[in-house]
Amino acid sequence: MRLKSLELSGFKSFAKKGDLHFDTPITAIVGPNGSGKSNIAEGFRFALGEQSIKSLRGKKGEDLIFNGAKNSPKANRASVKVIFDNKDRLFNIDFDEVIVERIVHRDGSNDYFINKSAVRLKDIGEMLAAANIGSSGHHIISQGEADRILSASPKERREMIEDALGLKIYQYKRLESERKLGKTEENIKSVESLRREIAPHIKFLNRQVKKIEKAAEMRVELRDLYNDYLAREEVYIKEEGQRIERESGPLKIERDTLAKKIIASKSTLEDDDKQDGSQDKIISIESRTQETQVKKGELVRRLGRIEGSLDAYARDVERRARNANTDGNVARSKVQSVFSDIRDSLRDARESNDIEKIRVVLSKIDTVISDFRTAYMTDTSKVEEEDVVSHDNLIREKDEIEKEMKSVRDVEEGLTRDMKELRAELDRGRSENREAERTLFEAMTRQNEVMLLLNNLTSSLDQLKRVKNSFEGELNEGAVLIGRGVLQYDSATVRVDEVMSEDRSKQEERIRIIERIKIRLEDMGGGGSDDVIKEYEEATERDAFLGREVADLEKSADALRVLIDELAKKLSEEFNIGINKINTQFHDFFTLMFGGGSAKIFVVEEKKRRRKLMDELLGDDVDTSEEEEVEKGIEVDIALPHKKTKGLMMLSGGERALTSIALLFAISQVNPPPFVILDETDAALDEANSRKYGDMIAKLSENSQLILITHNRETMSRAGVLYGITMGSDGISKLLSVKFDEAVSVAK
Ligand code: ATP
Repeated sequence: MRLKSLELSGFKSFAKKGDLHFDTPITAIVGPNGSGKSNIAEGFRFALGEQSIKSLRGKKGEDLIFNGAKNSPKANRASVKVIFDNKDRLFNIDFDEVIVERIVHRDGSNDYFINKSAVRLKDIGEMLAAANIGSSGHHIISQGEADRILSASPKERREMIEDALGLKIYQYKRLESERKLGKTEENIKSVESLRREIAPHIKFLNRQVKKIEKAAEMRVELRDLYNDYLAREEVYIKEEGQRIERESGPLKIERDTLAKKIIASKSTLEDDDKQDGSQDKIISIESRTQETQVKKGELVRRLGRIEGSLDAYARDVERRARNANTDGNVARSKVQSVFSDIRDSLRDARESNDIEKIRVVLSKIDTVISDFRTAYMTDTSKVEEEDVVSHDNLIREKDEIEKEMKSVRDVEEGLTRDMKELRAELDRGRSENREAERTLFEAMTRQNEVMLLLNNLTSSLDQLKRVKNSFEGELNEGAVLIGRGVLQYDSATVRVDEVMSEDRSKQEERIRIIERIKIRLEDMGGGGSDDVIKEYEEATERDAFLGREVADLEKSADALRVLIDELAKKLSEEFNIGINKINTQFHDFFTLMFGGGSAKIFVVEEKKRRRKLMDELLGDDVDTSEEEEVEKGIEVDIALPHKKTKGLMMLSGGERALTSIALLFAISQVNPPPFVILDETDAALDEANSRKYGDMIAKLSENSQLILITHNRETMSRAGVLYGITMGSDGISKLLSVKFDEAVSVAK
């Protein structure tokens, strides 16, 4: 037995806990009207998940809870447990026993449990559907619902049959898949719209990143250019520094030497100025020489006069001897000519400084006078004696003068010698000066040159300092723009001779190129580039992720579509097979019941028109296009034996009940549920039909456990176990196991 027992507690009239055990294929529940038998059938439906309170004869959940009676208080909740044997794993859970429980509370809330674990209603529905215990309750036929399958619409009929055929599970799956597909499509749309939303941002970021990459390339270019430039510049600075030092060293020494030389030369020239004393000496010698010459002149004059006197004396003596007869008269003109001669001579003498010349003049005068005397003085004898005296005296005087003359000449010679020496000394001094002047001139000329060279070197040094400064400036700027890469230059890689022989304009050109790149880099603005790249990577990663997600979603949507198609196909196939099988059984049960005739069910397709959602939204005033939908349903076609009438409408109450039971049994036979509950399905049957009903029950119980609520004696007689339900004045249903005879009396 699969159905083991039912446990009611607080459910409707079952205030106290009551158990029903179903140990036989057929269990009958009997009892008087209103004792609570139908509450048991409803208990089953409740526990198995019935959601329509109305179909459980209530308005709200609270109505299902024992409502109290005279001496019994209300219950707080209603609980119903259905206990199954699961040794053959009827249900797909790994327990030998499965207890399905539902509790309803006064606030209308429900709890569901499978083996005491709280579960969702859906879990219970799925588990039961898999065991062919559908929620449509095709296996629980409530009181007065025996012909429900006949009075139902073709669509409802189809649903009942689908449920009974165990196709609900596929429908669940299909619905679930469709729901999933809908959700997936929604997700695809929202992911795609998300991608569309972020696309412009990614595009923007992409442009930024390209810029950043370009800037990075430029930085590499800049680094290479810088490294080349800086390596050359470092070599240049070092070499140029060394050159300046090398060249300025000897120049400085030379400058100092020249300065010393100039000082020495100047001091030599200054010393020369001090030689003014020798000039004084010359002047004094010259004045003394002059004095000597004056003295000498005087001596010459005196000597001349004496010599003249002596000559005159001689000539007078001679003339007297020669001219002893002369009268003594002298012509006036002769005297004037003698005076004029003397005067001219004296003038010449006065005008001349030359002692020798003066001496000659004096002698001439002396001769003129002597000649005149000799010629015109006749009386010479008177003076002869006087003349002899003065002619001594003259000789003596002449000697003295000549002595004096000699000493004067000695002095003069001495002075001439002194002068000569002095002049020689002066000449010597002059040549020394000339040398000093030449040296000074040369030294100063050279000093100018040296100073010019040193000045050039100083300005080279200044220039070099500027070069150094800008070198350091470039290092700093480069470090800011390209980081430590700027320091990677290696001056060993450049050739010194090439650097030094190259025109500086080449380096200037290089730095100009570097400057241009720097400006472009600064214009690009490198700030926050890491953030942009990170953001771009994240955004593209996210986009790629979303792309993958869309692809995954498309894939699963496709898979779902395939699954839905497969399920639809499966449903359709199983449904058609099921219909055929049901028809075989239906025919058998029908002919068994009615002793002939024919019965079948068949699929009808109804075309339903449905407005498109869009048109519904737009309203009535627009042209509404409609969608056609094919809806499948089941129709029943029967023909009673020996009767011309056809169709369900023509059947009597009993005939209708029998037809309905035949169809229900046929359905149950095709895909037997674990149990079937029939609540007074036999109520309308007469005795003969009750027997046939009993036979069908016996057949049905071969595959399903039967729980029969009945007042029918024939039906009771087929049951293995009978439960009697009674209700006393306390309004509480009571359960008791009864024997057949007791049951008959209890039922009454
Ligand atoms: P019949 O043979 O006439 O069909 P029955 O045995 O099937 O009768 P039920 O319909 O199962 O009887 O039981 C109806 C009884 O259950 C009524 O007496 C009703 O008052 C009682 N009942 C229903 N709901 C509650 C409730 N919430 N609390 C207490 N009693 C209730």
